[in-house]
Amino acid sequence: MKLKVVGAHQGESRNCRFLCVLLDDVLALDAGSIASGLTLEEQEKVATIFLSHYHFDHTKDVPVIAYNTLSSPTINIYCLPVVKDVMLAHIFNESIWPKLVEIPTPEKPSIVFIEMDHYQSIEVPGGFKVTAYPTIHSVPSIGFYVEKEGRSVFFTSDTGGHMGPIFERIHPDLIVMECTYPNRLEDWAVAFCHLTPDFVRREVEEFRRIQGYVPRILIAHMNPHYEAEIRAELAPLIAELDGLLEVSYEDMEVTI
Ligand SMILES: [Zn+2]
Ligand SMILES: [Zn+2]
Repeated sequence: MKLKVVGAHQGESRNCRFLCVLLDDVLALDAGSIASGLTLEEQEKVATIFLSHYHFDHTKDVPVIAYNTLSSPTINIYCLPVVKDVMLAHIFNESIWPKLVEIPTPEKPSIVFIEMDHYQSIEVPGGFKVTAYPTIHSVPSIGFYVEKEGRSVFFTSDTGGHMGPIFERIHPDLIVMECTYPNRLEDWAVAFCHLTPDFVRREVEEFRRIQGYVPRILIAHMNPHYEAEIRAELAPLIAELDGLLEVSYEDMEVTI
């Protein structure tokens, strides 16, 4: 499985993009930068998008790719029912943006939203099986466990952690784990349900306690204002884990 970090940040500028991970060029996990980070030709290859929650930094490019790929096959977008409701009510409402779930034709629209529930597993084109796990965040959110040909990745998306109940049910080769704030902003992290480097260490130790190993871990969703601090605070853990944990960056590619 080829994994590309299209967007690795909780911020967007000339130098960074909102969160989006692409698997084998065809399956996207969150869509914060699925248009801004890909060429038009690359966008046309995307067949499926899984949305963890409706926050803007994870959904920003859904209306963009939907418009860019009007003449391409329908993109299936899987998400919680509440995410579908919010996207239809506030984005694809003929006011902010066209109702691209019915355009160019209701039979073959640019995109469709398909509801997904906690613990549901869905098989999608490209040979993937994707399972949704409920995560702790300030709004309803899910993490995704993606399996293909005996290899697997877990994508936490936004979360305040305490993922032990999930770690008991998965055996990933790689985890894409968020880390949004430095340790000194722990109050914000708790209030908004995000991780700090100290919380990442807690989650890694919990995973090791439950599963008896530590998988490769890519850190993502850094707030760009604090990235230098986050990197410095993660350095001891990176050293302890002998490089198993890395801070991801835009256009980073790994093979799982
Ligand atoms: Zn969020
Ligand atoms: Zn976010």
